[in-house]
Order: sequence, then C-alpha cells, then structure tokens
Amino acid sequence: MARTSTKMALLPESIVSLVAALAKLPGVGPRSAERIALHIVQSENGSVKQLADAILVARERIKFCDVCGALTEKSPCPICGDSRRDASLVCVVERAVDILSIEKSNAFRGKFHVLGGRISPLDGVEPEDLRIAELEKRLPLEPIKEIVIALATDVEGDATSAYLAKRLARNGLKISRIAYGLPAGSGLEFADELTLSRALEGRGEMH
Ligand SMILES: [Zn+2]
Repeated sequence: MARTSTKMALLPESIVSLVAALAKLPGVGPRSAERIALHIVQSENGSVKQLADAILVARERIKFCDVCGALTEKSPCPICGDSRRDASLVCVVERAVDILSIEKSNAFRGKFHVLGGRISPLDGVEPEDLRIAELEKRLPLEPIKEIVIALATDVEGDATSAYLAKRLARNGLKISRIAYGLPAGSGLEFADELTLSRALEGRGEMH
C-alpha cells in the first residue's frame, strides 16, 4: 500500500493525472491505471497518437440508434434496418452492450430495444428516465407481436419487468420474459452464450 502512494508521490504531475483519468475507466483499478500510464509515456509518439485518435474518432462517430437505442454509426442501426430479421419480435434489454451478448448467443433473430437502465427509486431512476415511451411509439409503427424482456433477474430487474408487462399490455401483443437461468444479481454481460440461448428459448409469457 505504502509503496504505491510513495511511488505516486514521486511520479511527475502529468503521469499522476493520466493515472487518475485511466482509473476512472470501468474495470481499471489503480494498479492497472498506473501500469497503462507508464506504458503510454514510454511508447512511441506515433502509437500514442493513434490511440488518442481512435478514442476521439469512436466517440465522435458513435451515437444511439433513434429507434432501438443501440450504439451505432448511423441511425437507424444495421439491426433495425435489416429486413431479414424478424420484426414481430422485440427483445428489451437494459443497456446497449446487452445486445452484443444476445447477438453472440445466436439465439435471437428479432429486433431490440434498449431501456437505458432499470427502475430504481433508491437511485432516483423513474420509468420516465427510461426509453419506455420510445418503445410504446414503436408498437403501432412496427409489426410487433411479442416483446421479450431480457433484464437481469434481480429485484430491480423483476420490478422493471413487471412494470413493463403492465404498461405495454395490449390486445394481440405477447409479453414474455427470458427464463430464469442467468446468474442472480448480475447483468447479461456475465451470462455465457449457452445460458443466454437457453434462457431465450425457455422464455415464459408474463401475466
Ligand atoms: Zn436500432
């Protein structure tokens, strides 16, 4: 412990602020941040510039799909614009990255809708903070016959799913939820592909 702080104190100011910036990234702890920073400052100028440019370009080009909320360079995104996909099925996920997990499982050929979170009164997340109204707008415009809710199976995921099932209830619209089979308390990104595809196949209708 003391070793790290002594070393940090000995590091030049610019490295210290680089470490601080890197440590804010998800999954990067203080030790990794320091290792990456020290690697960067000893790398060739050209490769550092390439990294910085890649970050800036990606941030500049990536936006949310106006229809489903996926991360994309053009809106509507390739999935929304793909006529070979089953437009009667829409899978509701919490975050844009969950789409990648489900796509990797190869078990779903419908379309998606990203909520952007889940209802959590304790964290101040109310239904109007999520992209639920956007989903309601899609219902009369698209030939949607089934909404497949693929939220994590924890307390907030359960509450959000129940809220959605009630609010989206319409004649001729089936609302199902993926089978319990995901690790409790974790997001979809932790589910392996086989578990995910089983959970999708075993989805049950909500009442
Ligand atoms: Zn889209």
